[in-house]
Amino acid sequence: MRLRNITGSREVIAESAWVVQEAIQPECPGTWKKMFGNDSPIHIEIGMGKGKFIHTMAKEHPDVNYVGIEKYSSVLLRAVQKMEQEELPNLKFLRMDAEDIAKVFAAGEVDRIYLNFSDPWPKDRHARRRLPSREYLARYDIILKKGGMLEFKTDNRALFDFAVEELEPAGWKAEVITYDLHGDKALMEGNVMTEYEEKFSGMGNPICKYVIYR
Ligand code: SAM
Repeated sequence: MRLRNITGSREVIAESAWVVQEAIQPECPGTWKKMFGNDSPIHIEIGMGKGKFIHTMAKEHPDVNYVGIEKYSSVLLRAVQKMEQEELPNLKFLRMDAEDIAKVFAAGEVDRIYLNFSDPWPKDRHARRRLPSREYLARYDIILKKGGMLEFKTDNRALFDFAVEELEPAGWKAEVITYDLHGDKALMEGNVMTEYEEKFSGMGNPICKYVIYR
């Protein structure tokens, strides 16, 4: 998702109290619980887009701290605007490329990772840019606590097949794999729809999901 450059989005983000500013990101590892002011678990969404999923999750689970990560200011702006309409104490944002994720969280500091409708990067030579690639799984392996889970949803079957094939070489195992999430009553319990999930399931596309651990 790349919205047109929205004038002023960088400035709004630079002044937002909900965005952990770039200047202090190097000081973040190991300090997230202190930043939230409690001992609740930390769940993160990487590539959150406009933030519908993570905002809803934070509202439904006040006993969990959420961090939404998004590369583009023009997209993050929408999530910040949602917070202006409805402030939540257990939600913060990072504007950054997830490539550097292990620079902002300490080893084992994250309890759960969500990837939702990640960009497919269809060319083979760009495979390492895909968020469920083995290169990214190695980064998640550092920050995710022992026994922590990673959830991934997409309607893109080629990307999902790639993601499933990456598990074994990367040393991860699947607890759940489905190629039709919306057709599975048990798995749909507590499911929060993302913007892309609403759009693509509305068009009749089946939604794939895995839940993995290592
Ligand atoms: N998760 C949302 C949803 O399901 O509606 C948005 C999906 S959108 C296709 C993917 C989002 O991930 C975009 O907003 C994009 O900017 C962001 N993204 C892609 N690669 C990223 C990266 N390396 N680091 C941070 N964000 C990234």
